[in-house]
Amino acid sequence: MTLGESLRGKTAVVTGSNSGIGLAIAKALAGAGADVVLNSFTDRAEDHALAEQIGHEAGVSARYVAADMSDPAQCRDLIAQAGRCDILVNNAGIQHVAPIPEFPEGKWDQIIAINLSSAFHTTAMALPMMRAAGWGRVINVASAHGLTASPYKSAYVAAKHGVIGLTKTTALETAQEAITANAICPGYVLTPIVEKQIPDTMKEYAMTREEVIEKVMLTRQPSKQFATVEQIGGTAVFLCSEHAAQMTGTTLSLDGGWTAL
Ligand code: NAD
Repeated sequence: MTLGESLRGKTAVVTGSNSGIGLAIAKALAGAGADVVLNSFTDRAEDHALAEQIGHEAGVSARYVAADMSDPAQCRDLIAQAGRCDILVNNAGIQHVAPIPEFPEGKWDQIIAINLSSAFHTTAMALPMMRAAGWGRVINVASAHGLTASPYKSAYVAAKHGVIGLTKTTALETAQEAITANAICPGYVLTPIVEKQIPDTMKEYAMTREEVIEKVMLTRQPSKQFATVEQIGGTAVFLCSEHAAQMTGTTLSLDGGWTAL
């Protein structure tokens, strides 16, 4: 499709899509005509209602499938339950901030499982479906932290660097097919994952909320603005267009200039 055309007939599976960036990507793809499968591990009535609302507003089929992305079997089952997967968006992610000696082992394992290994399991299931359909898009939501590091985010930075490596490998394994794999690398976006970091950072640096946003979070974002979830949703739609057909194995930064520093 070109930018103005529709994704009608395609099915998109977006992991971790009941809030934040994943939700915005699911809405943007539905708005472009794709049927969507929303996911998180929560399985609340409101998750199913959210899918219903998106489907109703966009005039597409939308459903919610609960699956815990820390569990390889549930990652694989999500794609099996979707039935087809033309567009796979690996977005589910969590964060934990602590110096390496104090970083809880369980948190390390959980972050690597959710932020990195889940993308391997879903991709392994989705590629045969994309090949059968003769078209596919893998969009991995990495981060500026997939390209640079920050102290106290060892697991997150390691996982996001890993996601970019997985993206490149996926691109090479599909290079001669109508399938692409790319990573979106946002800088700071004001979503729940970031909101949760504010109180700890306030404590750690004895700062106000405003100071944390300005002096810690946006200090490395030269634009001094958060990226928005809508900008990321639009980027995902672009990656599904024909304009992006030769764009594969690469990273798209939406970080206000962070990685240009
Ligand atoms: P968020 O907390 O709003 O969303 C995270 C999503 O992941 C939620 O839908 C949550 O339900 C889901 N999730 C968490 N654990 C899960 C599990 N075990 N199984 C299934 N789903 C699970 O945060 P967000 O900012 O929208 O983050 C989305 C992605 O964007 C993450 O991968 C994050 O690392 C990445 N990212 C965010 C920012 C930012 O500044 N917000 C910047 C760069 C990258």
